[in-house]
Amino acid sequence: MVLHRDKRHELLTPVPETSPLALSLGSVEPRSCLAIRLGTPQTCDPNQPSTVLCELCGHRGYAICEPLVAGGEVTGSMLITHPQPLSGSQRRTIEDTVAYTTPVLASLRNLQLAQSRAETDSLTDLPNRRALDAMLTRTFAQANRTDEPLSLVLVDIDHFKDVNDTFGHDCGDELLSMVATALAQSVRASDFVARLGGDEFVVVLPATDFDGARILAEKMAAAIANTHVLGFNWDTTASLGIASYPNHGTTIEAVMRCADNALYQAKKDGRNCVRPAPVIPPAAAAALTRGAPRTHSARETGLTYDLPCRG
Ligand code: GH3
Ligand code: MG
Repeated sequence: MVLHRDKRHELLTPVPETSPLALSLGSVEPRSCLAIRLGTPQTCDPNQPSTVLCELCGHRGYAICEPLVAGGEVTGSMLITHPQPLSGSQRRTIEDTVAYTTPVLASLRNLQLAQSRAETDSLTDLPNRRALDAMLTRTFAQANRTDEPLSLVLVDIDHFKDVNDTFGHDCGDELLSMVATALAQSVRASDFVARLGGDEFVVVLPATDFDGARILAEKMAAAIANTHVLGFNWDTTASLGIASYPNHGTTIEAVMRCADNALYQAKKDGRNCVRPAPVIPPAAAAALTRGAPRTHSARETGLTYDLPCRG
């Protein structure tokens, strides 16, 4: 079964990795499925080879591919391969199955789309704050269970207000989008980049210790420095703060607080730099985890995590 979502296909039923369908899935256009493109059932009979071979499944044996039409829109297709020609009743069973399942699949697809939109920042296409919260909860639980390190890098563009003020909001938007891409391209597929809000981003690095995070943060800073909006003369820089589990605490809040303190330090040190949070003794890390007393007012970061103090 293939469901085409926006601009890509997605398999709802697993197929062997070596199947032509699995192989072509990532490379062909969504409308290359004949049933999806034409909106009519397509049959394949090895005794009567068709002149047009479906680019997506490339099936050469007996098969029928039914378009899934919901509300006048083709939302996907259902491919059924069979070793023998179908009888009339088998054909009707397939038609009935398609008729029953199409509205259900369409509802699931809409639900999935709505969920994905609710968790995506529309300007940068990065996961938003809501997706970050869910991801951090999962990743911290995993790190606690497996005793693997986990690092967080907070990134805030320097003097971003000046970009808006000097070149306009559209240029600011473009720059945010480019920085988001630069960050996403600097990390591994298993890492996670989210837009926290405004010009601030969070990079979550599972199974990465403090030293590994420092190397990566320098790489991200260099990628940001290479970001230029065409036609605008502006040197983009950012300040980055790093903290890790378990060096800086064992809860999301504690590690996030230390990363935020480190970012604040980077800003204080003149911006355009990476500042790792100071490594703290285990007892102090435990105290941070419990929540240290507020010692001064927090900088306005857009963070709504509990950030009671900055050291
Ligand atoms: P600093 O070096 O201290 O970080 O200074 P800054 O000018 O970057 O200050 P700050 O990070 O506090 O300002 C972020 C600015 O980002 C404020 C707001 O006007 C702007 N901003 C927030 N969201 C968006 C957006 O979606 N698009 C654009 N163009 N600007 C935004
Ligand atoms: Mg900023």
